[in-house]
Amino acid sequence: MNQEILNNIFATLKPKPRLTISQWADQNRYLARGTSPEPGRWRTARSPYTREIMDVFNTTANIVVVCASSQVGKTEIALNILGFYMHEDPSPTMYLMPTDGNAQDFSKTRVEPTIQASPALSNLFKYSKDSDNTIELKQFSGGYVAIYGASTPTKLASQAIKVLLADEIDRFPKVLKGEGDPLKLALQRTTNFFNRKVLFISTPTVKNDSRIEEWFEKSDKRFYHVPCPDCGHEFILSWDLVKWKLDDKKELIINSVHLQCPACFFNIKDKHKSELLANGKWIATAPNKTMPGFHISSLYSPWVKFYDLAKEYIEATNSGDPLKLREFMNLKLGLSFEDVLLELDPEILLRRREFYNCELPDKVLYITCGVDTQGDRLEYHIIGWGDGYEAWVLQYGVIFGDLTSEKPWKALDDVVTSKFTFKDGRQLIIATTFIDSGGNHTNEVYKYAMKRNHLGVYPVKGRAGNTNIIQSVSKNNVYKTTLIIVGVDSGKSRLFHSLAIEEFGAGYVHFPREDSANCDYHYFQMLTAEKKEIVLKNGSYSERWVSVYARNEALDTFVYALAALEMLNPNFEAQRKAIEELPLPEQTQIEFKPQERRILSRLNR
Ligand SMILES: [Zn+2]
Repeated sequence: MNQEILNNIFATLKPKPRLTISQWADQNRYLARGTSPEPGRWRTARSPYTREIMDVFNTTANIVVVCASSQVGKTEIALNILGFYMHEDPSPTMYLMPTDGNAQDFSKTRVEPTIQASPALSNLFKYSKDSDNTIELKQFSGGYVAIYGASTPTKLASQAIKVLLADEIDRFPKVLKGEGDPLKLALQRTTNFFNRKVLFISTPTVKNDSRIEEWFEKSDKRFYHVPCPDCGHEFILSWDLVKWKLDDKKELIINSVHLQCPACFFNIKDKHKSELLANGKWIATAPNKTMPGFHISSLYSPWVKFYDLAKEYIEATNSGDPLKLREFMNLKLGLSFEDVLLELDPEILLRRREFYNCELPDKVLYITCGVDTQGDRLEYHIIGWGDGYEAWVLQYGVIFGDLTSEKPWKALDDVVTSKFTFKDGRQLIIATTFIDSGGNHTNEVYKYAMKRNHLGVYPVKGRAGNTNIIQSVSKNNVYKTTLIIVGVDSGKSRLFHSLAIEEFGAGYVHFPREDSANCDYHYFQMLTAEKKEIVLKNGSYSERWVSVYARNEALDTFVYALAALEMLNPNFEAQRKAIEELPLPEQTQIEFKPQERRILSRLNR
């Protein structure tokens, strides 16, 4: 008789276990030292929302979906379920992780320590040979656990399994070469068992491209409702209810962070959390569906304070890096992130142009310039920057000419030395100009820039990948001149994030309606000439920029101008004071020289 038939008979004949999974865990599960903030005996009451998730798994449900953020005990839930089946209902079981590396790591650092720390489980291996208990495969009387990576199709196809625990499914490869979807392959292994048990558990990733979200949408969508300690109103903890205050230095005031009851506005603090959780209950929001699905975020975690989350959120938004914000949404809130940065509409940007009615808007504190070289021309972009990186496009321009001759470069001199005048007559000069040396005229760019470092002019080279906007500064080139490597992908992400902001203030980009600034429809087509595609590859995000319009000089030069600002390490507050202290031009003839030349000391070090 083959193993599969035996397994089936075994599964059918064995009497139903008497314990629920949470009861089993409370009695038998120990958290190994070093694997948990609270080692020792597992207590379901510590994170009461885990009880129903675990217990529902051992009811008639075949598939249970858990969409969870980090730090809510997601892995402990899976390990409790695993331990229960090993001990109470030994079955052919597969624990599936995104890659073989993930699987081996998980086996060594989580499964094995759990077995060792929990006598009920370690006893199962009392009579096992060493060869029965390997990293990949743990065999014991009546059952086994295979711990595999979803990237190896041969393993997925080889066994019939009754219990499938698929962890971090949003990071599973989408398709295996010639084999199709690994999750489908694994799921097919379970169809021989009428009483199969499948757990899909994951933090979500990109909206409309998230496996766990897709499964959750098909489920009865349970959310954990908690009663307000003050008015008793039952509600779901959500991020928009978290409130805080900042002090004069824009630092988070620790005691100000709280969660506000949506009914009575009572300030719920961390000290209320254990009471909240103990009195909470899961409510299905799509009760007509039969598949149980759970959503839980870090806001519920007994191990995470509201303050920590507020701090992380503020850091993520202040960084201006959309990836950090996405990580926060995914990992902390258990939400997929709709990437508003994917593609921008030139029409919409064109429509929001405004008349500056002056050469230099009052709030501008720094001016930088980005220059691109093409076969027959130079294109430049002059941007003014204010507090919080609010930007005012001042001018876009093209200088035609033979770049091996002097003429176009002389014209560029007029640009990089130009002065912009505030309404009151004070003037700002361009602090830094970054010129792309990556085109056809590398030598000309080096020669031009190296003689104008004193004017803040530097050659740059763009490099892809998500790194800092200023990747490096070196003199590693034939002219031994200062060359700056600019992380263009990060710069584009930052810029697109800014362009998506619709309210004046931090990060917003202003465009002038004045004809002299050259911000016409073609300009906006160039500015939005690329779009970002997000690809999940080998279980991790990767992004790439693809072209949607042939000309992208306005985009490239804006990114260089942004990098030029970053190179200055801008201190908006200090710069504002410096400008305010300037005497008005009619009172004195001294010309304003802002502190932009700090760049020189930075580069010469
Ligand atoms: Zn209330």
